[in-house]
Amino acid sequence: MTHVPIGIDLGTTNSLVAAFIDGEPKLIPNALGNYLTPSVVSIENNELLVGQAARERLLTHPKNTAAVFKRKMGTDASLRLGGVAYSPEDLSSLVLAKLRQDAEAYLGCEIRDVVVSVPAYFNQTQRQATKNACALAGLNLVRLVNEPTAAALAYGVHQRDAETQFLVVDLGGGTFDVTILEMFDGVMEVKASSGDAFLGGEDFTEVLAKLICEKLDFPWAKLGANLQSEIRARANTAKIRLSDDDAWTVSLQIKNEMHEIVLSRQAFEEAAKPILRRMLVPIERCMYDTGLDHHALDRILLVGGATRMPMVRHMVTRCFSKFPEFEIDPDHAVALGAAVQAALASEDRALDDIVVTDVSPFSVGIDVSEELPDGKCVHGLFAPIIERNTPLPASRNEVFYARNARQRSVSTKIYQGESAYVSENVLLGKFRVKLPRKLDEAECVDLLITYDTSGLLEVEATVLSTGEKTGMVIEALADGLSEQDVAARLEKMKALKVHPRDNEVNQALLSRLRRVHEMALGNTRSQILTMIAQFDAVLNGRDPKEIERVRGELEEILDAFDDLYVS
Ligand code: AMP
Repeated sequence: MTHVPIGIDLGTTNSLVAAFIDGEPKLIPNALGNYLTPSVVSIENNELLVGQAARERLLTHPKNTAAVFKRKMGTDASLRLGGVAYSPEDLSSLVLAKLRQDAEAYLGCEIRDVVVSVPAYFNQTQRQATKNACALAGLNLVRLVNEPTAAALAYGVHQRDAETQFLVVDLGGGTFDVTILEMFDGVMEVKASSGDAFLGGEDFTEVLAKLICEKLDFPWAKLGANLQSEIRARANTAKIRLSDDDAWTVSLQIKNEMHEIVLSRQAFEEAAKPILRRMLVPIERCMYDTGLDHHALDRILLVGGATRMPMVRHMVTRCFSKFPEFEIDPDHAVALGAAVQAALASEDRALDDIVVTDVSPFSVGIDVSEELPDGKCVHGLFAPIIERNTPLPASRNEVFYARNARQRSVSTKIYQGESAYVSENVLLGKFRVKLPRKLDEAECVDLLITYDTSGLLEVEATVLSTGEKTGMVIEALADGLSEQDVAARLEKMKALKVHPRDNEVNQALLSRLRRVHEMALGNTRSQILTMIAQFDAVLNGRDPKEIERVRGELEEILDAFDDLYVS
C-alpha cells in the first residue's frame, strides 16, 4: 500500500491538510474544492455536518452548531449539540476525520499516520487533548509539531543553504505564538517560543462585535443566541474588509427594522489597542530568552489569517524595523510545514539534508516549600526541573529523600508554567511512589521527567535501593484516554449520520440558501424560498448533471447577494 505522509493544521477557525508528494508539500482540497475547511461542526437529529455546510448553520442553527472549540481543548467544557454533550476533543476528532476523508479521496489510499500542528504555547493538557482527538478520529499521531516551527519549515524547505535568524509571528483564530529560529546548513533550530493560548483573530472580532452593539445601543449580554451569532458573523466580515478598506458598513435587521452601522478602520484600531499591547508580551519574552537584539533578526514571517490586519503588520514592522515577508499564504504555511514534518518523520529521502529541533514550551517542575531565616516556612513555591525553551527531547531528574524510616511513600505534584507560585501554574498530576517496608533512612526516589519531541511529558520514578521503577506517563493524570474511553466515545459518535462525500457540496449550498433566506426580507426572501424549493426538487430528481447545473446557477445568484450584504 502506498504510504503518503500527511500533515494537518487543526486551526481554531479553519483546518487544512497537506501531503508530501514528489519532494514537495502540497495542499489537499476538500470536496468543495477549497483548501480551508472551517473548523465548525453542526449536529441535528443525529445528522452530522462538518466544514462549510456547518459554518453556514452558525446563523440558522446556533444551538446545534459549534465553532472555535480549539480554544477549549484540554478543559472539561462540554457543548450540547442535538441534545448530546460533546467535548472539544470529540468535536476536533470530527474535523480530523473529515480532513482524513478528504485526503483519502484525493490521494486514493488509506491514511493512518499524521503529524498535527499545535500552537507552540499549548500546554500538556491541550497537547494531550489534541492527541486524544487523533485517537478518536482513528489516526495514529506520529508527532505534534509547533505551528510556527511548521511555518518556518514550509519556508526553509525551499532555502536549505541559507543562514538566517528568523522570527515567526503566528496570529491564528484563537492563539498567538512567537518563535525565533536559526537556520544553517539545512539545520533548523528553534531557539525560543512564547505565546498566548487565548489571544487570536476571534478577539479582534469580539472587539468589533462590541463596537457594533455600542453603536446600536444594545447591551451584548441581552441579545439572544441568534442575534449574537449574526452580529459576530457581521463583525468577522467587517474585520476582514477593514484589512483592505478604511471603512465598512454593516447592515443588520433587528425586529423587522434595518440598521446601518459604519465602522472605520481607525475606530477599530483604537478599540483593539489593548489586544495589540498583549501581543508585545510574548514577543519581548522570546527576545529576552534568546538574548537577541531586535536588529539581529534577518527575516520576519507572518503566519495565520489574522496577521493580514494592517495594525498587526505595522506593529511588527515598527518593533523590528523590518518589513515582514509574505511569499507563502499565511493560511497555508502551517499545513505545508506539517506535511514536511510528516515526511521527515517517515525519513523521506528528499529531505535527507534537513534537521529540525524544537524547544519545550513551558517550564515543568514541582511544588516545594522554602524555609526563611526566621524559621517560618513558605509553601506552594514552584521549583522548575526542566526550564522553558530547553531543546527537545529533554530529560532531567530530581532525587527525593525519605525523612524517616516510617515513611511509606514519597509524593509530589507536577506543574507546568512560569509563575513562582504553583497555584498560578497548571497542575499536571500528583505523583506517589510507595517505599519498601524495611526502609533505610537514606532511602530515595529518583524522579525522571522527560519532554518528548511533541512537547508531551512523561514521568518515571525509581526507588533507588530496589531499582523498582514506576513508569507513569502524565497523560494518565492529564486526561489521557484509555482504550475503553476511546471505544465508548466512538460508540457515541458512530450514531452520527455522515453525508456521503459527493453530497457535501449540495449540503453546503442548502445551508447557505437557508442562511441567506433567514437574513433577507421581502421580495429577496421569497425569491430565495423559491430557490430552496427548486434545489430540493432537483436533488430529489437525482440527476447529477442537472444538480450541478442548477447548483452553479444558484451559487451565482447567492454570490451577488453575499457581495452586497455579508460574506
Ligand atoms: P487561522 O486560524 O490561521 O485560519 O486564522 C483565522 C483568523 O484570521 C480568523 O480570526 C479570521 O477571521 C482571520 N482573518 C482571515 N483573513 C483575514 C483578513 N484579511 N483580515 C483580518 N483577519 C483575517
